[in-house]
Order: sequence, then C-alpha cells, then structure tokens
Amino acid sequence: MTLATPRMVLPGERWQNWGRSESAHPLHVARPASVADVVEVVRFARERGLTVKPIGAGHSFTSIAATAGIQLDLAAVDGLIAVDGSLVTLGAGTNLRQVPALLRPHGLALSNMGDIDRQTIAGATSTGTHGTGGGFGGLATQVRAVTLVTADGAILHVSDTENPELLPAARLGLGALGVLVNVTIECVPAFLLRAVEKPEPFDAVIESWRHRVADTDHFEFYVWPHTDRVLSKYNTRLAIDEERHPVGRVAGWWEDRFISNHLFAAILNVGRAAPTLVPSINRLATRVSGHRSYTDVSHEVFVSPRTTRFREMEYAVPFDAVPQVLREIRALIDANSWNISFPIEVRAAAADDLWLSTASGRRTGYIAVHRYYREDPSEYFRAVEQIMIAHDGRPHWGKMHYRDAESLAATYPHHGDFVAVRDRLDPDRVFGNEYLERVLGS
Ligand SMILES: Cc1cc2nc3c(=O)[nH]c(=O)nc-3n(C[C@H](O)[C@H](O)[C@H](O)COP(=O)(O)OP(=O)(O)OC[C@H]3O[C@@H](n4cnc5c(N)ncnc54)[C@H](O)[C@@H]3O)c2cc1C
Repeated sequence: MTLATPRMVLPGERWQNWGRSESAHPLHVARPASVADVVEVVRFARERGLTVKPIGAGHSFTSIAATAGIQLDLAAVDGLIAVDGSLVTLGAGTNLRQVPALLRPHGLALSNMGDIDRQTIAGATSTGTHGTGGGFGGLATQVRAVTLVTADGAILHVSDTENPELLPAARLGLGALGVLVNVTIECVPAFLLRAVEKPEPFDAVIESWRHRVADTDHFEFYVWPHTDRVLSKYNTRLAIDEERHPVGRVAGWWEDRFISNHLFAAILNVGRAAPTLVPSINRLATRVSGHRSYTDVSHEVFVSPRTTRFREMEYAVPFDAVPQVLREIRALIDANSWNISFPIEVRAAAADDLWLSTASGRRTGYIAVHRYYREDPSEYFRAVEQIMIAHDGRPHWGKMHYRDAESLAATYPHHGDFVAVRDRLDPDRVFGNEYLERVLGS
C-alpha cells in the first residue's frame, strides 16, 4: 500500500541561507509538530525514494543544509522537555535565543556560546558551533544525550547508557545520521560575565596569545587588516549575585547596532565602490572602537546582533600555531594588495573527544576570515585555506571551505569511524546531500 502524502508535507519553496552563499529548491517542505510527524515524513520519503534534510535557522555558510528532496523544518519541535539537575532536554528545533528564558526559572545557563543566538540547538551542535575559552569546548561538547529518528523511521536514544558507542558521532553528526528530535545539554548555574573590550597592538597580543587565553575565561580578538591594531575582548565569569553593570540602552544601541552593524555596512559599501580607501577606513575603525567595560548575565555578553550580511571561512588550527598563521595571512593580504575590510576573528577552545569536532583531540585556536556578501570571497578564502592546510587546519562544518573527504580524513583521526556509523544508520543516504557526499564520501 502506498502511503498518502502526510498533511504536514507541502510543496517546496526556494530557500537561501543567511549568508546568501547557498540556495536550493526542495521538492517539499515539511513542518512536523511532533516526533510522530517526523517518523511519518521519514517513512513517506523512504517509500518515495526522496531524501530528507532537517533545516535549522539556515545560518550555515556551506550547503550542508541544502536539499532537493524534503526540507524538514523542526521549528515546532521546540521548547523545554525535561530538567534533571543540570541536565536539560530541549526540542531539537529550539532556537538558541529561546534558551535563556527556558533556563532562567531553573537558575541555569549554557556554559559557553558563540557570537549570535539565531541558530537552533540541533543546527548549532550538528555543525560544531563554538564560542571561545581555553577551558571550554563548543556547544556539542555540552550534549549528553540525543534522540534521533533514523532512516528506517525508528526512534533511537543515544546516551552513555543507551547505544553509548554512537555518542562520539551523534553529539556532532553533521545532520548525516538521522533527524535529531531532542537534545540533552549539560548546563551550569547561571552566571554573569564581566566584559572588557579594548584596542591593542597586534604584536603584543599574538606574542602573549598563550597567556591571555590562560588568564581569561573567554578571550578573543579581532585583527584589522591593513593596521597594526586588534580589538581584544576579555570575558570573566562572575557569580550571578555580583553587581550588574549592563551596557546602557543608548550606548548598547550606539556600539552594537549602529557602529558594529549600520555604520559598518555603510563603510563596506564605500569600500566596495572605492577599494583603495579600505586601509584608511580600517585604520579609522580601530580608532573609533574604544575601550568599554560592562557586566551582565552571560548570554547578554556572549551574543551580539549581526545585521550586516557576510560570508565566512573559519579554520581550527593547533593552539600554538595561531600567531604564525596570523602573520602568514597578513603577509598574504599585503603581497596580493587585497583590500580586506572585515576583521579576522581569533578564538580558542579546549580539546574534546567528539569524532568530527574541529577541536577533536587537540587544544585549538580558531581563525575566521570574512567578506561582505556582495563581494566574491573565493580568491581570498582559497589562498587562506592553503595556509590553514599547511598548519593541519580543520574547517568549520558550517562555514565556507573547499575540502573533500579524502583531505578531511587526513586531519580527522576518527573520520573513518564516523563514516562507518553513517553506513550503519543511513546505508541508503536518506539524509544525504551533495555537501555530505563531498566531506564524507558517497
Ligand atoms: C552571523 C553568523 C554568526 C555565526 N557565529 C558563529 C559562532 O560564533 N561560532 C560558530 O561556531 N559558528 C557560528 N556561525 C555558524 C553557525 O553557528 C552554524 O553554521 C550553525 O549550523 C547554524 O545553525 P542553524 O540552526 O542555522 O543550522 P542550519 O545551517 O540550518 O543547519 C546546519 C546543519 O544542521 C543540520 N540540522 C539542523 N537541524 C537538525 C536536526 N533536527 N537533526 C539533524 N540535523 C539537523 C542541518 O541538516 C544541517 O546539516 C555563525 C553563522 C552566522 C550566519
């Protein structure tokens, strides 16, 4: 008997990602409201020979979320499912910006976060989304258990007591192993962060990179190309009952919305029209980005608005290679006389044990390059990628890169183990797409 089209499976619409680097036209879009709906869609897809691809917030710059089959939008499979001490189970479609309000009544918070909170919990963990901090891992390192709908429509629990051999793959699974329907995260008691942001000399910061990361809970800096300055950010964890000194509403709007987004967008357009002005504009930008300090609840400090669209490539390199890689990127930009308006972002993470984590098995530094979305990034990104490869770099799964399965297998000791789990859980590639074929093989 042929299965009827489930009521939540609708005609597809053209989709594009946030960075406008990828688009797709899925045959169908499905909006399940429950785990049973997800099972129904997967069984329907299987019977019709269609692929299924869950979509989060579309914030990956790669085509990892693209599909010509059924796009599965799990926005309605969201919210708080259970709290057990510090273990919190969330629907997979929960958006990160929903999380603070869900955790507040329980006095809990996410231990670390990246720059923004637009992503879904499943999308962010599946691609290895991370923030900074030498003693902290990315979001997926906080995952303790997941529930998946697999390619045969079965429900699979993975935790350290159920199917534990799948855990190092399923915590950061690239969307290749099944549809995550819920994710259990280890949270921490709610805390404040004291932020200090200031411009500093490039040489001084990279010479003491190791110490700065060791001495600060969450240290990161932005290198302005064509200048000898960086903007450093030092975030220190404080108890929740310490005094808060939030950025005032006007100052916050001025710095985070106006200067960092609207004025920056205007500058980028000037730079596009007259690229030779970029070095002077960057020097000016290092002068206007001032010294500021504030203390607030963690998510208010970790996260900033990003309204100016861009494309990004980010590589994880061995921690101690960061200063040398940065010197080489600056030399590359100078040698090619490129006018690069976007700062280079530099962060750190502890080693972890997830098979496809960019920090798998090694202490890591992250270096991210950006270009305005109206500019072609490929010449710059491809050249930077060669520097990263020479330093055994690993690309962020959700950010642009040009690597294939063979070259990735050389830098991930567990690449083959992950592929074996994929072969076991999805032998017919119900959850496949072109990107997964490129990075994992067919
Ligand atoms: C402005 C901006 C800022 C960013 N800042 C950071 C940062 O600070 N740190 C960082 O590391 N990254 C950052 N990123 C990258 C971003 O966090 C990742 O690309 C992340 O994957 C996006 O999550 P999403 O919900 O948009 O997922 P999508 O891009 O929609 O999907 C990503 C992958 O997750 C899979 N997926 C989604 N839901 C499920 C599910 N339920 N089950 C199985 N698989 C699923 C998709 O199929 C796809 O393979 C940033 C991106 C942007 C655009």
